[in-house]
Amino acid sequence: MSSWRDTTCGALTAADVGTRVTVAGWADTRRDHGGLVFVDLRDFSGKVQLVVNPEHAPEPAQVAHDVRNEFVLQAEGEVVKRAPEAVNPNLPTGEIEIQVEALKVLSRSTPLPFQIGDDVDDVLRLKYRWLDMRSERMQRNLRLNHVVIAAIRRAMDDMGFVDVWTPSMTKGTPEGARDFLVPIRLQPGTFYALAQSPQLFKQLCMIGGLDRYYQIATCWRDEDLRADRQFEFRQLDLEMSFVDREDVLDVMEEAVVAAFVGAGREPPPRPFPRLGYAEAMGKYGTDKPDFRYGLEIEDATELTRSSGFGVFANAPTVRYLVAPRPFSRAELGRLEEIAKEWGAKGLAYLVNDGGELRSPIAKFLAEDELRALQPDAGSTALFVADDEAVVARVLGGLRIHLARELDLAETGDELFHWIVDFPLFERDEDTGQWTFLHHPFTAPMPGDEGFEQDPGSALSQHYDLIWNGWELGSGSIRIHDAEMQQAVFRVMGMGEEEQEAKFGFLLDALKMGAPPHGGFAMGIDRFVARMAGEPDLRQVVAFPKIASGSDPLTGGPTPMPDSVLKDLGIRLR
Ligand code: ASP
Repeated sequence: MSSWRDTTCGALTAADVGTRVTVAGWADTRRDHGGLVFVDLRDFSGKVQLVVNPEHAPEPAQVAHDVRNEFVLQAEGEVVKRAPEAVNPNLPTGEIEIQVEALKVLSRSTPLPFQIGDDVDDVLRLKYRWLDMRSERMQRNLRLNHVVIAAIRRAMDDMGFVDVWTPSMTKGTPEGARDFLVPIRLQPGTFYALAQSPQLFKQLCMIGGLDRYYQIATCWRDEDLRADRQFEFRQLDLEMSFVDREDVLDVMEEAVVAAFVGAGREPPPRPFPRLGYAEAMGKYGTDKPDFRYGLEIEDATELTRSSGFGVFANAPTVRYLVAPRPFSRAELGRLEEIAKEWGAKGLAYLVNDGGELRSPIAKFLAEDELRALQPDAGSTALFVADDEAVVARVLGGLRIHLARELDLAETGDELFHWIVDFPLFERDEDTGQWTFLHHPFTAPMPGDEGFEQDPGSALSQHYDLIWNGWELGSGSIRIHDAEMQQAVFRVMGMGEEEQEAKFGFLLDALKMGAPPHGGFAMGIDRFVARMAGEPDLRQVVAFPKIASGSDPLTGGPTPMPDSVLKDLGIRLR
């Protein structure tokens, strides 16, 4: 293998009994049993037990005596069978141990801030990530990340995709986030943005005749960090020419299945089911529903148009969901608080406690309303009456909250879904201006090309991939016509001059023979986190940032000396 070792710790089994081996790794634990010293030696492949017997090997025994956790050791000796009572059935190497004849300390360790694999605070783990990485969990996750990417690369290659490197430093691409800016010393006062995605470059590759592009692309977005967000992340980014939506979805399903197979997992069944955006918002209150549990939202708008309960009768939309529990008054109070935080004015309810109805609103409801809305015994109907968007947001949020509280999401099913038929535009909440839902390069649905007349009702050829409530990625068929692209910019309130300044190069390219094209991008770290069953991206990324935006390991970000800033033409306020 090498001059340092001729096998690895985790590889040794009863079949190796009688052979002489040299292994190297970290001292996981050391136990001094009055004479005999036991060291569990660990490397990437697993652990093996070393036994040092001072009677046979006085010098190694002396060395072993001074060994502490995480010292790096090299040990040579014979593989022997353990005594039957010492066999450890939980360890793959549990039937054997190495009778040490030579032992060397290759490197020492100061006392550790935590023991490897201990469940300590994430910030501490990240500060000492090199220690944390030695844990089984991080070894497993980083290797899974690798296996998934390797499998995806093979699949993309098999399908004829060309890996093209696109610039990180570019003019901003609008993906709905803030840009990270890079000051340019050669041109003080000017900035590149770190690419939020390779979006425009991959479209230019299609106009450039490349036909099928892909990249495991790093993207940068200045957003608040959450469980499923990091400033920088990698995505499987792809683009294809002369395709329809079906072709893109097919390639993505192929890539997902390849990743599962590569990781030795049962792949999800294809084709992945689809759901329209409007139906998703109505039934689940979100465009990334978790389908592992029911709790579907029901509509009561029609039913309550002439309700005796004014709150229902006067609200534009009335919807409810039924939780399989008869909640107590206190529980309902807490749920109402949550609903209010999300923008509801209140939370009405009907509790069916073993056949007995508890509700302050029941007396206002007519018989037909009660008959239709009354939940089954042992459950509670929760109502929100408001504008449609508020109702969706609140009930969608409550649905997730309840599923968590009632442990409804704990199934092992790998459920992938496509969400399709998104609107092309939505109103910006702050400015009231029409803005894109996906990005401004998304094509309208065939039939909706006249979107300028009525932007709010046009649908787009945008699609999202969802896995158990996580949005894995998005894509669309793009606009390949300069006129149409300009119409989208106009709807967004962008005049000719601004269009030219921001996207002149794209408009030029679209005027010089642009093929129909479309593509997709899937967040690899999100995908791997889900696959690993981890709650957040930090567990599958080697060196992530924490919520404050800091990197506990290096201590970044840091201020820069004035001299450096001066070169860049920057003065701090
Ligand atoms: N550029 C988009 C994104 O990064 C994906 C796409 O439309 O292909 O989300």
